Amino acid sequence: MSETRTFRTEVRKVLDLVVHSLYTNKDIFLRELISNASDAIDKARFESLTNAEIAQKWRIAIEIDKKGGEIRISDNGIGMNAAEIDENIGTIAKSGTKAFLEKLAENKEVSAPELIGQFGVGFYSAFMVAEEITVESKRAGTADPAVLWRSKGEESYELSEGSRKDQGTEIRLRLKPNNDDYFEAWKIKDIVRKYSDFIEYPIHLVETGKGSQKEEAEKPLNSMKALWTRKPEDVSEEDYSQFYTHLSHFGKDALSRIHFSAEGTSNFKALLYIPAEAPPFFMPQDLKKRDIHLYVKRVFITDSCEELLPDYLRFVKGVVESEDLPLNISREMLQRNPQIEKINRNLTRKILSELSSMMEKNRDKYLSFYANFGRVMKEGVNSDFQNREKILDLLLFETLNGEPGKLSSLKEFSEKLPPGQDKLYFAVGDDPRQTRKSPVLDSARKNAFDALLLGDPIDEYIFQTVMKYKDKSFVSLNQENPEISKSAELEEIKKEADKKHSKLLEAMKKSLGDKVKDVRFSDRLVSSPCCLLADKFAPSRQMERIMKAMKMDAPDSKRTLELNPSHPIVRKLCAKSSEGKDDATIANFAELLYGLALVADGEAPPDGAAFVENISALLSQNN
Ligand code: ADP
Repeated sequence: MSETRTFRTEVRKVLDLVVHSLYTNKDIFLRELISNASDAIDKARFESLTNAEIAQKWRIAIEIDKKGGEIRISDNGIGMNAAEIDENIGTIAKSGTKAFLEKLAENKEVSAPELIGQFGVGFYSAFMVAEEITVESKRAGTADPAVLWRSKGEESYELSEGSRKDQGTEIRLRLKPNNDDYFEAWKIKDIVRKYSDFIEYPIHLVETGKGSQKEEAEKPLNSMKALWTRKPEDVSEEDYSQFYTHLSHFGKDALSRIHFSAEGTSNFKALLYIPAEAPPFFMPQDLKKRDIHLYVKRVFITDSCEELLPDYLRFVKGVVESEDLPLNISREMLQRNPQIEKINRNLTRKILSELSSMMEKNRDKYLSFYANFGRVMKEGVNSDFQNREKILDLLLFETLNGEPGKLSSLKEFSEKLPPGQDKLYFAVGDDPRQTRKSPVLDSARKNAFDALLLGDPIDEYIFQTVMKYKDKSFVSLNQENPEISKSAELEEIKKEADKKHSKLLEAMKKSLGDKVKDVRFSDRLVSSPCCLLADKFAPSRQMERIMKAMKMDAPDSKRTLELNPSHPIVRKLCAKSSEGKDDATIANFAELLYGLALVADGEAPPDGAAFVENISALLSQNN
């Protein structure tokens, strides 16, 4: 009995893309099917540890049947029963699919096959070359009957009972015209060697000749070399690079790799790669995903062991093989396992020291790493207290005295402070370019002091929690803070203004009302007319915005408007106040200065139209 079902909408969209887009590289369909076969054997092998029914001699076969117009990929892995096949390849359970489709539609540069590999829409890629696919599968270790799944990759698929007796899965592809290459043994060999050489199970090539006789080559197509178990000096660059392609599904080389083996209290081997590029996009669920495969004594345990690396190193890919863990370790047991924790600490140390030596020896390479993953690394400062100092040392910032765009480490910054400066000043803005011009930097500029120019709200959060680097403390220039050095000259001017124009400040404060905490003359502004300062321990505006976006409790704290008594606009205002101008004029000026201070902070004045009117009026005045 057979039953026809329609694909879910997302699947139909994926299929449509697979079938109708022009791909640069159709060959990857084989990589995807082999990788599925290998995963299926991994699972069966894992179950066989506790279920004697499953024990098998593992193998994957690729059968070329030119006469019959088919190629067939089979494995003796875990297999699927009817419900599983329906679930696994009739729907796409993965939430990434929608994002995949959107990304593909908007971003033509990322090639579709690369995305297909990454998102696990792998099976469907076979429709690039096949006009009809039949899957026959039998679930291992159960009495479930075999199941047959058939589809032309259009609207629907058909399900019926199969006749397969052995556990595992066979995928039959009836090839589309003009795909005859795939009937050639050399072609299949080529693809397997290129993409699937490290697959742990032998991949055999079977050719169906005349009279349906099957010929099988004695030697498997793949070398099955598990690189990580070898000594680094015995592995060629090419092998390393191919293995990375195999792990990452990306055609590009990694930026750096770490291959080592640990002995002593913890025995394991690791081969890790730091990617050259961030994946096309990070999705929130990626936070828990790790591209770290875990093996125990050559047995595959999982391809995403999140316990092996801290969140902030989630971009690292690789393989870890432990000698100490029990073979039958379950997912639950991986959590809080002391051996796993030891490996985690060890890997973390190694990665941080690799990055630190990259930063010292090859700054350009490090800059490219930092551009991709610097943001992620920063999360570590407040989550990995053991390594906090090391992570801080890996962060880079623009500085006031440095050239725009040039990044310095905290060490470089703090060791080169100008004479007289003993605090690590920093200013916050939406990006370093904008921050560089911020009025809050006036006093630093005047004193020729240096300051970190922050453009990322997490930086501010970091400095406010860390508070010190080595023996020097961080001081925010966006806050009111008595620790900020001033000059005697500016203080004198401020005192003078305070004396003469206290009435003006009162009037402005009254007219601005709730918008500000206070209005004051400044002893730190030099060339800017005004600025807004937060309370000493209050977050900056940028930080508040982020906290609100994250739905955190952000206090809508009021800031103090500081006026530069030497600035022409302020002087004009003082003159008007002394002349006893009416309240409306003072109120207009107050709004104007408040608006300017907001704009300098990257914000819009609350009433844009009134602000423009105000400025226009001022500009058209002659005096
Ligand atoms: P992915 O392999 O990334 O999960 P696919 O679309 O390639 O995505 O496969 C979907 C699912 O179908 C797999 O997760 C697996 O559960 C199942 N599957 C595919 N091929 C096989 C196979 N040869 N044996 C057993 N299950 C398979």
